[in-house]
Amino acid sequence: MNDQYAVIGNPIGHTKSPLIHGLFAEESQQDMSYTAIEGPLEPQDAFADTVRAFIAAGGKGMNVTAPFKLKAFAMADERSERATLAGAANALGFKDGRIIAENFDGVGLLRDIEVNLNLPMAGKRVLVLGAGGAVRGALLPFLAARPAELVVVNRDIAKVRALVDQVATSGSLAVCGYGDLEAMGQFDLVVNATSASLTGDLPPVPPSVFSPTGAAYELAYGKRLTPFLRLARNAGVLGVADGVGMLVEQAAEAFAWWRGVRPQTRAVIDRLTVPLA
Ligand code: NDP
Repeated sequence: MNDQYAVIGNPIGHTKSPLIHGLFAEESQQDMSYTAIEGPLEPQDAFADTVRAFIAAGGKGMNVTAPFKLKAFAMADERSERATLAGAANALGFKDGRIIAENFDGVGLLRDIEVNLNLPMAGKRVLVLGAGGAVRGALLPFLAARPAELVVVNRDIAKVRALVDQVATSGSLAVCGYGDLEAMGQFDLVVNATSASLTGDLPPVPPSVFSPTGAAYELAYGKRLTPFLRLARNAGVLGVADGVGMLVEQAAEAFAWWRGVRPQTRAVIDRLTVPLA
């Protein structure tokens, strides 16, 4: 039997991961299979049992999506630094009887921004909206990219403060509330990492944060011009993008980790892209 991989989530019908990894495997000639598993929500231990059954059947690795990223992290025997800061795993590797937790959401996001969109963060003013799982994974990679300033804003200020307190190198890192943004001027890059777009909502961000020469990035994907991207466009921002590149890049990181081969991503991103407008 060839090497087995899977994505686990609930619901899982919408997942693009089998398509993405299937294309990666074809292109890099890897003998592997990749399936989607609907993980059980109840009882409490059922998720871990499902992962262990997959390992027992010869599974080599898994991608993990909502709502299981915390449970996957908790059941691991080893955890990477970025998974530890995120408190969540979006990928698991199974080796020598051990479960290793990784989180590639942040590096995938950074790679999409810096490499695919050609927007290096070094020396730039960067604003991140939200303090959920995606931001927890993005903070370390973003700081490593050396922005002049990294500001993280969230409705629940206590949550964003608690998150930032865990980061040791906080030199260029600041937190604030949405009410403070008006006085903070323009940012070179504004990243919407809230889940507001999933329900067609707009985070309470003032248009004054956008720079016409800057960029706006929306983590949600396949939703065309979300209220956030529309606000950015109306503020004169030409460089707007959604999270399809992040989705493919985090998958590529997991693939490279598992297989030791880095797949090409451009054609896969193009294939999955839904035009913004
Ligand atoms: P979480 O549920 O962990 O966090 C949600 C965040 O959004 C919280 O900070 C919450 O603020 C904020 N929020 C929700 N609604 C609003 C609103 N109306 N106005 C302002 N803030 C709001 O979500 P994730 O971090 O897991 O995901 C965030 C987004 O990133 C989603 O759109 C998700 O689909 C996308 N994503 C994309 C990926 C990709 O590969 N492209 C990968 C992972 C995520 P508060 O704390 O104040 O409630």
